[in-house]
Amino acid sequence: MTSPLDPDLTSAVQAFAAHPRVLVATDFDGVLAPLVLDPMDSRPVEGGMPALTDLAALPGVTVALVSGRALAPLRQLSEARDPLVLIGSHGVEDSRHTDGLALDEDQHALLETLAQEVEALAERHPGVRVEDKPAGRVVHTRGLPAQEGKDALAEAAALAERHTSLVVTPGKEVVELAVAHVGKGAALLALADDLDADAVFYAGDDLTDEHGFAALADDTDTARAGRRLTVRVGDGETRAGFRVADEEAVVELLVALVAARRSAGRSVSPAPDRSTAGG
Ligand SMILES: [Mg+2]
Repeated sequence: MTSPLDPDLTSAVQAFAAHPRVLVATDFDGVLAPLVLDPMDSRPVEGGMPALTDLAALPGVTVALVSGRALAPLRQLSEARDPLVLIGSHGVEDSRHTDGLALDEDQHALLETLAQEVEALAERHPGVRVEDKPAGRVVHTRGLPAQEGKDALAEAAALAERHTSLVVTPGKEVVELAVAHVGKGAALLALADDLDADAVFYAGDDLTDEHGFAALADDTDTARAGRRLTVRVGDGETRAGFRVADEEAVVELLVALVAARRSAGRSVSPAPDRSTAGG
C-alpha cells in the first residue's frame, strides 16, 4: 500500500534531479531494509536496491550506501554491485579503496603499530581477548582476575597516551583503540568532495544519520548545502528537510528520483567541471 509523495518533497526531488552532478546516498538498515532482531537476518525491502541500481546507471549520478555496518556484511546483505559505492563502519571503510579502508598513510602505519602493541599486551596478560576492527583493536578483560584486568586496561591507556591520534572508547572491562573515527557526516562530505557533486541526497533513520543531515546542512560549500535533499525515515527529532514514514515510502521516493532524473537528463547534461556547473 503506497501513498503519493508529499507535494513539497516531489518538488524538491525534481529540483535535486536537475543538478548536473548528484550524489544519492542512503543508510541501509531502517531505510532500505526493515530493522530485525538479528542483524544478519536483514533483507532489503522490495524495489529499493533496483531503484538505486537504476539511478547509478544514469549519467552524472553516483549512488552510495553509507552504513555503520562493516563493509563485508553490508555488501552481502544489500547485494550491491559496482558502480554502487559502499561506505562501511560509519565511514572507516570505503569500497572504492582496494583494501576497503578509508585511511591515509599515517593511519595505516599507526594501525600496524597498534596491532603489534596490542598483541604484545595480550601476551603479557593471558586471558585478555583482542577483537580486530577494520581500523582498530578492542581489548577485552572480562573474566580476568580484577587486578590483572585493571593492569591490562592501564597498559592499554598508556599505549593510547603514547599514540595521541588514537581514538579511545573505554567501556566496562573493555577499551577500543581506533586509528580513525570518521562518522557519517564527515564521510558524506568527503564523498561529495571526491565526486565534485553539485547536490547531495541523504536518507537515514537513526542518530548517526543526524550527523549526516547536520554535516550537509552546515556544509562549508554553501551552494551545495543549499541544494541538499535530506530525508528522515520514521519518527524522531531531525535536522533533515523532509520526512517519510517507512522503507516502502523510501522506495517510492527513489522511484520518483529515477523518473525525475530521466526527464531532467533530456535537458541537463553533466558539466565537465565544477567551474561550469553553475551557482
Ligand atoms: Mg539505519
